[in-house]
Amino acid sequence: MSESVVALFESLVGAEPPHDVPVLFDTACVMGGSIAGLLAARVLSDRARRVVIVEPDDTSAEAESRSGVPQDQQVHTLLPAGRLWIERWLPGVSREAQDRGASLVGPDQQFVGHDDIRQVPDGADHQFLAVGRPLLESLVRDRVTALPNVSVLRARATGLRYGDGAVAGVRFAGHGTGERVEGVLAADFVVDAMGRSSRLSNWLGLDGYDQPRLERLESPVNYATALFERPAKFSELEVATVLQLFTPRYPSGGVSVAAATAIEEQQWLVMLMGYGDNRPGRTTDEFRAHCAALPAILRDITSGDVTREVVTYRQADSRRRHFTEAGQLPARLVSMGDAVASFNPVYGQGMSSAALHASCLASYLDSGTDLDTAATEFFRLQQVVVDAAWAVSAGGDAARIDAETGTEVPEEVRQQRQGMAQIVGATLVDADVSRAFNDVSYMLRHPSTLFDPELLGKAAAAAEGAAEK
Ligand SMILES: Cc1cc2nc3c(=O)[nH]c(=O)nc-3n(C[C@H](O)[C@H](O)[C@H](O)COP(=O)(O)OP(=O)(O)OC[C@H]3O[C@@H](n4cnc5c(N)ncnc54)[C@H](O)[C@@H]3O)c2cc1C
Repeated sequence: MSESVVALFESLVGAEPPHDVPVLFDTACVMGGSIAGLLAARVLSDRARRVVIVEPDDTSAEAESRSGVPQDQQVHTLLPAGRLWIERWLPGVSREAQDRGASLVGPDQQFVGHDDIRQVPDGADHQFLAVGRPLLESLVRDRVTALPNVSVLRARATGLRYGDGAVAGVRFAGHGTGERVEGVLAADFVVDAMGRSSRLSNWLGLDGYDQPRLERLESPVNYATALFERPAKFSELEVATVLQLFTPRYPSGGVSVAAATAIEEQQWLVMLMGYGDNRPGRTTDEFRAHCAALPAILRDITSGDVTREVVTYRQADSRRRHFTEAGQLPARLVSMGDAVASFNPVYGQGMSSAALHASCLASYLDSGTDLDTAATEFFRLQQVVVDAAWAVSAGGDAARIDAETGTEVPEEVRQQRQGMAQIVGATLVDADVSRAFNDVSYMLRHPSTLFDPELLGKAAAAAEGAAEK
């Protein structure tokens, strides 16, 4: 991995939003009004006279689950990188979330464990936001739609209109606030933020452009999430986030990961996840039975009254679309968030990736690029972020699948995976390794920083020490 990719990734993570940027567009249109779309709209609000978000769901209700985001009842943790960036575009959002009962979780309030062994504190002060996904989205939406030049058109985007090799408008249809609306919104810049089922590729193919290659890694994940009452003071530790990863050694009944976060309305949002055919609990009784067999902290968390029954979610694969490989794309069009890459959700990278895509957009638009050619430079920048997240989640999944199926891999890959396994093991005993690993998991540093020889040496020494015990 070249130094420049690492430096680019870290400059995207660390950059401040610029001030006084020139207005580049008359109307920018964002298709999809979820996290990626809202953050794109925030970036574009400084660079367009008006920004129209086209979104079919009724988003007027506060903090409610909605059909366009079917995953929104599952645990959604905002990693430190995403929190940092959302906070930079929309200062004060974390504070507002806390005022509404969400928790800002520092290192002392996290219990991250492998089986029931706790990871050593990494000495850094990174903070997660533990919040229900509908509340987070509604706080972001309220801020973005309060901007004077941002509005929402309640309709479904159905296709694009072009002129001179560039996108010139968005076709839409829907029911608005009751009456049927249909038409074309003229726009001189368009963002696809329609999530993992985005139909942009199909539209491009039908319209004579290249379809970006779709890469998929089949790795079915089954989520079950329920809500429980949370006592005002939970434990001596005042734990607010619990993440436990179970190795095949642990008798977990098919649960590979359990997570609990202290969210608004004094509730625990608790998730159990199983791979493949392992579906951890459709009813509260099944859910509690699973938790009873897990480390005591999870049994305690789920001992309160249920405030929402179990909701399940299955995702069949991780997928990404390679826009950088598409030779012919219209100008003035970009794609962001899950529409470009959607990962195994257990790594918690989706919203943070979307936030980093927003910084790619700002960087691209402020680079003085020729807007009348395809947005290749944007897609290259974004690829740095996608590659980094993909290396962590799809890399981890591929290693697990190959180990389960006994698939042989090239020696270099085998060594890398062995190094990673040693690093993960060393997070239980070595604070430096723990910090390096967390910085990558939290999307603050590039994954290739883990292959530093000194760090690998420490991890190998820790593995030897553990083997001797
Ligand atoms: C089970 C699960 C758990 C997850 N947990 C986490 C987590 O802990 N942390 C984390 O950061 N991420 C998590 N994610 C990922 C996260 O949900 C997404 O990355 C995040 O929502 C950003 O997605 P998005 O805005 O790109 O798309 P989405 O949130 O999927 O939204 C797509 C939007 O497009 C709209 N739309 C669809 N079609 C059209 C159309 N034709 N025209 C106009 N609009 C349209 C939809 O109504 C919706 O508003 C999880 C995902 C899953 C599945």
